[in-house]
Amino acid sequence: MLAISSFVFTFKCLLILFKDKEMPMIKYKKYIINIMDTQARFWHKLRSGKVECTACARKCKIPESGHGFCFVRKNIDGRLVLPAYGKINAMQIDPIEKKPFNHFMPGTYVLGIGTSSCNFGCMFCQNHNISKEHEISGVDVDPSHIVEIALENGVEGIAYTYNEPAIFIEYALDVAKIAHKKGLYNVFVTNGYLTSEVVGAMKGLIDAAVVDFKGNGAEKFANKYEMVASTEPIRQTLIELKKAGIHIEITDLIVPNVGDSLDECNKLTSWIHDNLGADTPVHFTQFHPDYKMLDYPITDYRTLLKHYEIARGNGLNYAYIGNIPNKYESTYCPECGKLVIGRENMHTTKWALNENNECKSCGAAIPITGSRPRRFRYEGIRALY
Ligand code: SF4
Repeated sequence: MLAISSFVFTFKCLLILFKDKEMPMIKYKKYIINIMDTQARFWHKLRSGKVECTACARKCKIPESGHGFCFVRKNIDGRLVLPAYGKINAMQIDPIEKKPFNHFMPGTYVLGIGTSSCNFGCMFCQNHNISKEHEISGVDVDPSHIVEIALENGVEGIAYTYNEPAIFIEYALDVAKIAHKKGLYNVFVTNGYLTSEVVGAMKGLIDAAVVDFKGNGAEKFANKYEMVASTEPIRQTLIELKKAGIHIEITDLIVPNVGDSLDECNKLTSWIHDNLGADTPVHFTQFHPDYKMLDYPITDYRTLLKHYEIARGNGLNYAYIGNIPNKYESTYCPECGKLVIGRENMHTTKWALNENNECKSCGAAIPITGSRPRRFRYEGIRALY
């Protein structure tokens, strides 16, 4: 009990220290923890004696004493167990716009949490210090303590982020259940490589999800730079999330030279329009060199702008450009073109909607979950474009 209290106290000190600044990811002192026997929820036994994990679309078939692609789900004595359950490796408070959500609870703050490892093998991962970990590490935090920390720090929701939440889905849902009871919302930041079973379990507990494509969702890019055979399960997940009533936004990381095809952008944005609707927010984000792709340049703003224009041309009403200060961080009314929500450096700065979330100039309804933020922040960073 004393040990748990001291961990929570350490988290609180770090959170207070970094609160309301442009915060680096909080990284805690790590240590190896003995395997716990928490049983997974998403799996079944195969006739061969292996177990099949159904937490993500890889559906790893795991032999006795083996682990799945993500390393953190293991077959022990014919059962799928979770040695990483509750072992938190990253925690930080951020504006919801940083996830990025522009149409869900604008101006609110979230407590973001993450564990170790991932189900993708992205060569450009910005969180590779935790996502590429193949050891079970982190600080044990009981689900109720996550909620306690969130409430004590005055945030409105919890984000399951930094590494893929599908691999710690059981823990995320346990936290989410308690969070809802305490009036907090829950959001996933996910690569979307989920299963129908997991989306079914998210229904009613996870309020919103931002699903990340990279390189326009092109199969070739996914094969070579993400170690993923097909992006089709991501599209399937998006359709299922929408059907489940979960608010969705989409990001597309535009990688210079290898993941910036305008043809692929055209295909992806047409697909989004036809399958998810014209009001689906899509964020084209700037690539920054990291991990094994350090020799690639950052994405030129003009390339991002071309993607933005293709999306708008394909009928998407809410396209954004992210990871770079620019005027397309903000929301414009698709009817009259007036700015309705201003954003700078991922913070809400202006609000020109009435109490029904309609454009103050022309009265068009703008699809926003939430209302006028209680707080605005101006960072003093000027838009570059
Ligand atoms: S969550 Fe991990 S073990 Fe399960 S299917 Fe995905 S990669 Fe495999």
